[in-house]
Amino acid sequence: MDRRTFCKTTVAAGVASAWPLLGACSRDSAPTATAVDTGIRAVSLDGAEMELGKAAVGELGEAMQGPVMLAGHPRYDSARRVWNGMHDKHPALIARCRNVQDIRHAVDFARDHDLLVAVRGGGHSWPGKSTCDGGMMLDLADMTTVDVDPDAQTAWCDGGALLGHLDNATLAHGLVTTAGVVSHTGVGGYTLGGGFGRLNRKYGLTIDNVLGAEIVTADGRMRYVSADNEPDLFWAIRGGGGNFGVVSRFLYQLHPFDRNVLSGMLIWPVEQARDVLEFYADWSRDVSRELYVGPVMATMPDGTGIVAMEVVYDGDPVAGEKELAPLRAIGTMIDDAVRLQDYKITQTQEDEATAHGIRSYAKNGMVREFTQALVDDMIDAFIPDPRAAIFTHTAGGAVKDHGELDTAFPHRNAESMLVYYTGWTDPEQDEEGKAMCKQWHAALERHTGGYYDNIEWEGDKTVTGNYGPNYARLAEIKGRYDPGNLFRMNSNIKPA
Ligand SMILES: Cc1cc2nc3c(=O)[nH]c(=O)nc-3n(C[C@H](O)[C@H](O)[C@H](O)COP(=O)(O)OP(=O)(O)OC[C@H]3O[C@@H](n4cnc5c(N)ncnc54)[C@H](O)[C@@H]3O)c2cc1C
Repeated sequence: MDRRTFCKTTVAAGVASAWPLLGACSRDSAPTATAVDTGIRAVSLDGAEMELGKAAVGELGEAMQGPVMLAGHPRYDSARRVWNGMHDKHPALIARCRNVQDIRHAVDFARDHDLLVAVRGGGHSWPGKSTCDGGMMLDLADMTTVDVDPDAQTAWCDGGALLGHLDNATLAHGLVTTAGVVSHTGVGGYTLGGGFGRLNRKYGLTIDNVLGAEIVTADGRMRYVSADNEPDLFWAIRGGGGNFGVVSRFLYQLHPFDRNVLSGMLIWPVEQARDVLEFYADWSRDVSRELYVGPVMATMPDGTGIVAMEVVYDGDPVAGEKELAPLRAIGTMIDDAVRLQDYKITQTQEDEATAHGIRSYAKNGMVREFTQALVDDMIDAFIPDPRAAIFTHTAGGAVKDHGELDTAFPHRNAESMLVYYTGWTDPEQDEEGKAMCKQWHAALERHTGGYYDNIEWEGDKTVTGNYGPNYARLAEIKGRYDPGNLFRMNSNIKPA
């Protein structure tokens, strides 16, 4: 049994309704930029309506190796879709980049025309920041190459790759780095926001494993950033999101890894939540860095409420079994599915339940300590609905080896992240789905401090405070590299 069984949904059918402003580009004409025979209506950076001349659009199409798709292109409708089915947007054009030169052409075009631009990595943004109505979607979906150097134990990974591409390529060499829990998440937005995954207690956040990156900034230049090259920009992209440019490639540190790991779920009926969570609150303070263990509360489709623990032990399985024994001894489990298994199985176990097209809302909060009061409120606030779940990204361990000023991501003191997640397929349930998530969040908010922007719908509203002492530096760097705020489809840091 896994999370799939209690929040399984079907992919919502997408409706490709034509956006009125795109009337100039019918399905039978001008499907690609090179074939455009008229100007196209678009939206500027500040939201004003504008027209893009046919010559300029045609030149972009000629310059780029990848296609520039307009409404009517056979792949336009599939390309414009993003993970969250709530966002049914119609970009004026989709610049599907194949390489860094394509990215530079697309950035130059957007900047020169003052055109709204949304950068799409894996398309997983909850609030839909990787798409827009009437602007350009700068789409990295064809840039998914991962080059592993087994001797150096590093990997160059394209900015449009998915976490599954990264895991697959590195595991083949007996190597790994921290990657998130759903394999169809994009490395781009995921890494730029911080990167929580099942190995972060041992190896740190994904940003702690970024050795360098190639980034195209608003001036159209490609820069290599690292601790030695443009260190301020390197600091800013490790937590500052997509504010600073388009990352064409990341260079990751890898670690030797036995992919046969002790992992899986321990599941109890929700009636035993007090025993399980009270034990966890105390016991988890001293667990080893090898052990990742985090609580989940949810409701199965048949209405059974559960409290579960997601487990990964990256180390000697015998030692792992021994460390887990006290947790396993609590109460009476419905299922003990922790076993030695391929890490790939663990890393893809949520993929189906979180398939593209689901309608979803999410909020989260960082927790410094699992207190008795938090346990009480988690039990009281439980929502017995199969569309809602609360899960945790366990932190601590190596995540705390870095201080809050060391990278743009500031929340280093947290032991855990509480994630409130709702998912449904019927558009008529949109308001109810959002409200459930907000209700759960509101009930537990007093136990949290700050949030992880990547798993937050409303991050835009509180971006200044959430970066805490790092915001002023981020704004100054934004002012240097993106003074016109070209990259604003994100939790936006205003240029100082
Ligand atoms: C089902 C699901 C599971 C998740 N699991 C985890 C998890 O385990 N751990 C975790 O930390 N987070 C997780 N997340 C959150 C995830 O980190 C964010 O949604 C992240 O933004 C996804 O990156 P993406 O490239 O797919 O997103 P996109 O929607 O493509 O982009 C998100 C933002 O990043 C920018 N961006 C994307 N790629 C680039 C690039 N190459 N260069 C510059 N800017 C770029 C976009 O412009 C946008 O502002 C999950 C999200 C979902 C939906």
